[in-house]
Amino acid sequence: MPENLDQFEIAVAQIRKSAQILKLDSGMVDILTKPKRELTVNFPVRLDDGTVKVFTGYRVQYNYSRGPCKGGVRFHPNVSLNEVRALAAWMTWKTAVMNLPYGGAKGGVIVDPKKLSRDELERLTRRYTSEISIIIGPEKDIPAPDVYTDSQTMAWMMDTFSMIKGYSVPGVVTGKPLSIGGSEGRGEATARGAMYVARAAAKTRGIDTGKATVAVQGFGNAGSIGARLFHEELGSKVVAVSDSKGGVYNPNGLNIPELLIHKEKTGSVANFQGSKAISNEELLQLDVDILVPAALENQITEKNASAVKAKMVVEEANGPTTPKADEILHKNGVLLLPDILANAGGVTVSYFEWVQDMQSFFWSLEEVNNKLESLITKAYNDILPISQKENIDMRTAAYVYAVKKVVDAHKIRGLWP
Ligand code: GLU
Repeated sequence: MPENLDQFEIAVAQIRKSAQILKLDSGMVDILTKPKRELTVNFPVRLDDGTVKVFTGYRVQYNYSRGPCKGGVRFHPNVSLNEVRALAAWMTWKTAVMNLPYGGAKGGVIVDPKKLSRDELERLTRRYTSEISIIIGPEKDIPAPDVYTDSQTMAWMMDTFSMIKGYSVPGVVTGKPLSIGGSEGRGEATARGAMYVARAAAKTRGIDTGKATVAVQGFGNAGSIGARLFHEELGSKVVAVSDSKGGVYNPNGLNIPELLIHKEKTGSVANFQGSKAISNEELLQLDVDILVPAALENQITEKNASAVKAKMVVEEANGPTTPKADEILHKNGVLLLPDILANAGGVTVSYFEWVQDMQSFFWSLEEVNNKLESLITKAYNDILPISQKENIDMRTAAYVYAVKKVVDAHKIRGLWP
């Protein structure tokens, strides 16, 4: 039977696996495998040519046993309710892994933002925000950027929510520009966190990051900054990167600063001087030390997992590896650093931003990065012994660690009424 690639079914299977190890009863498993609250919105947007188009969006609040819901908003043509559910579940475990006082949520709009003008995108963002404004807020649910949304999107969301309220509410979203209550370091936080985790794990694996070769799939916020940090801060040799339009490969190492300029100019990494074209599929199978999936879900599956030659996989994307692929990688001795740990730097600095907004007192970049490093390194150091003791892969260990925290919070609060 071919592997089931439905993201929410994958998310549920991951919860069930850890629930078995934690010996949770069926009532608790029932609670953990269902989203708490879901909102679907169909809303009209006026396009530049004067016509009106109706878009569909979602906001799923998966679980808030540990605090207000938290999670990004994605604009992508393949967004679906089940994808948003899965992403919201993963946020629940991610915030628990990092010990942030949050639950998990996610939002999405079915749209290809590349086909809209800036004005259309602004109107779409504002109308979506007003539609979900009934369930978001600094003490309820705090959105942030995700695939194809950025600090400008967050500025529009913050402004729309504030206009509805009649006063400025900076804490309603994170990932904002600095000028309206954003945090130093938020822009590169996802990639920076992944770098800290990769560095810690490389040490335990005897990989010298200063000599390591790296391939990065995806060149958005996580992937492009990830490639730069591996290159600049760890001195690794980034030999391949790709984006939705194609990939580039140079066994002697790509010049990352120049590649960033090339991407800025042309909109893609493709056709970068001195490199060879490579497909996304080929990139995943390169003989490198570290593979960084930083794009979308379901990239490493039962079909290609046995062809992965990397010693370490660092999941900057959410859900890039399927459960069957997890098993194959583990069996082959590939160390996988799971999304809910490896890419948790983004939501961690989002948390710092929210705290700074609440206090109206802002921190230096150094303070932000130091706090991020200590929190994410602690999470790695807490999860590693679970994986060693139980002889399980790092994803399952991270789930055991995170799910237990959510269960404990649920139990101590009690079941109402
Ligand atoms: N979208 C990011 C993630 O998947 C960040 C979420 C946030 O900052 O709330 O973790």
